[in-house]
Formats: sequence, C-alpha cells, structure tokens
Amino acid sequence: MPTTSTARRTPPRTPCSIAPPDLLARVARQGTPEQRDAALAALAASASMRTQRSLLSRMRLELGAETANLFAGLEGASPTRRQTVYDNESQGRSGLPGTRKRGEDDPPVDDASVNSAYDGTAATYDLLQQVFGRDSLDGAGMELISSVHYGVDFDNAFWNGAQMVYGDGSGQLFVKGALVQALDVVGHELFHGVTSFTADLTYSKQSGALNEHFSDVFGSLVKQRHLDQTVDEADWLIGAGTLVPSMGKALRSMSEPGTAYDGDRQPADMAHYVDLPDDNDPRNDNGGVHTNSGIPNRAFYLVATALGGHAWETAGAIWYRTVTERLGSLAQFSDAAAQTMDVASSFGDAERAAVEKAWREVGVLT
Ligand SMILES: [Zn+2]
Repeated sequence: MPTTSTARRTPPRTPCSIAPPDLLARVARQGTPEQRDAALAALAASASMRTQRSLLSRMRLELGAETANLFAGLEGASPTRRQTVYDNESQGRSGLPGTRKRGEDDPPVDDASVNSAYDGTAATYDLLQQVFGRDSLDGAGMELISSVHYGVDFDNAFWNGAQMVYGDGSGQLFVKGALVQALDVVGHELFHGVTSFTADLTYSKQSGALNEHFSDVFGSLVKQRHLDQTVDEADWLIGAGTLVPSMGKALRSMSEPGTAYDGDRQPADMAHYVDLPDDNDPRNDNGGVHTNSGIPNRAFYLVATALGGHAWETAGAIWYRTVTERLGSLAQFSDAAAQTMDVASSFGDAERAAVEKAWREVGVLT
C-alpha cells in the first residue's frame, strides 16, 4: 500500500545522470579553462536530454501496462536476459541508439566500452533476477539497451527513460572510458528504471533524494555482488576512480557522505540537511536530490554493516521490497524509515532493531 499519493507524476526535469549537477556547475565557474569547457558541455548536453526524457516518461505512463506486455513476450515464459549494446561513434551525434555492436548471445567485441556496458548491464540484470526475482527493470523482461561513445568526450552517463547512455569522458572531469567500466554507475542508472516502474519517486527534494538513494544502494549492491564482497570488504563509494584524481576519489561516499570529492556537500544526518530550492539552477540540484541522499545512504550503510555478511541478502532485500511495494511517488525520508522498519519486522526482531537504530543515528527518527 503506497504511503503517499501516486496521483501526481511529474517527469524529472533533468535526466538521471551520474555527475552531480552541483559539481559540474562549480567546475564550470571555478575549474581550469579545459575543465570549464568540459563541464559546460556536459551541462548543455544534459539540458537537451530533458525534453527527450520527459517525452519517453509520458509515453510510457500513457501506454502503461500495454508497453510492459510488448516487452514481456509470452506470458509465463521464464525470465530471460535480453540486452543490446550500440555504438554512438563519438561523432557528437544525438541520435540514439546508434550502430548495433553486441547482442545478448554475441561474444565480446574489439571495443572495451561496448564490452563494459554489456558486462555491467548483465551484472545488474542478474542481481535483480537471481536475488530479488525481478525480470528486468519493468519486471516483465524489458530489453536493456545501452549506447556507448555518446557525444564527443561527454562527461556524463544517464538513463534517459528508455535506455542507458554513456559518454567517454574528457579526461578533464572524468577519466576517459571510466564511467562505463564502473559497475555501480551502471547499476545506479539502470535502477532509476526500476524506480520509475515502481515507487516512481518524484525527482525533487526528499522524494528525489530517495530516488537517488535507491539507485546508489542497488548500484553499490551490483558491484558488491559481482566482486562477492562482504559489508566489511565493500568500499561503499559510488563511482570510485571515475573522476580525475585531482577532482576527488569518487562521486559519493555512502559510509562518510561529504568526503567523496572536493566540494562534496552531502550531509550524513538531518542536522546538516541542505534545504535547497527546486529551480532550474544546476547548483540547486532539483532541491538537493544528489545532496541529501547522503542521509538515507548512510542509514543503509549502518543497517548493512550492523547485519554483516553480504549486504544484498538482508539489508538489500528490505530496501528492495520497500521501493518496489511500499512507497508512493511523494514519499519522504520519514516514510522510507517507517516502511523499511515494517518490512524488516518480517525478517526478525534483530533486523527491525538495526533498521530503527540506523534511522535514529542519521536523525530521521527522533
Ligand atoms: Zn541518479
């Protein structure tokens, strides 16, 4: 049962891209001339994606169940991973998806970015299907489409409402080729698709920060499971090594929000919540959606490390059921706290206690 109304569905005004908009905006003003050029190009290209993303979201909402059926194939068919990777060919083309390079049953090709997109997408599908029993992003076998080498040295990666898109990076902000190689970046972006088919969290302020939060959680879990890491072995970073070293170590830290890059202003608790307006200024980040996500991110980290072992097995299962079954589009942090605690009760008293303690520690429960 959703805890908040699902009646108001506003498509995000910015694509769900991996680069924090406030970071791009800051570099555009303060970076070296080369960094400024790269950041401005990334901001401009992201802005031009808004229209396309809104259109695709609206079409999918209007077509609704019928589109899911188009993708679903025969009813009752067993889950099958279906994906295709395309090459946008670094020509600055905006037409997607590009030239077909590798399908589900094809062997690796002579292009590391194509193979990375393929492997990251496969790892994401496998987490969803093998751990949570979900057949692709829509739960109905939707084909996973990726395009690599988008634009020219484009410093971003995003889910545009229908497919994944990866830039090569300019070497000024992002290390060339690094975004598509980062499993947590791939998982993060694809999970925006899962959220859009389930809680459909409105991309503004707290509901938007929860949208970002769930993508960070499941992006990190894709990476942790692929590497078979326990909670103590995981780095709890998002996009480690994707930024050029002078910019920072990662895009976000789930264990220590606010420490990932120079100027990272993610808060670790409600006492430091950053109340930003939701306007079109990228510095304000849709009301801090990539900023305040640090608070629930840290709560998840605390739950996972309190429970130990593999984070996807219990903490991940509680969070998965919450976003896919319990939250409505306008859910706030307090709704996420209440629903994760309720779901955790079905796992046991220790699990529920761990979840409650974490939300208290980050100040969402007082
Ligand atoms: Zn995102």
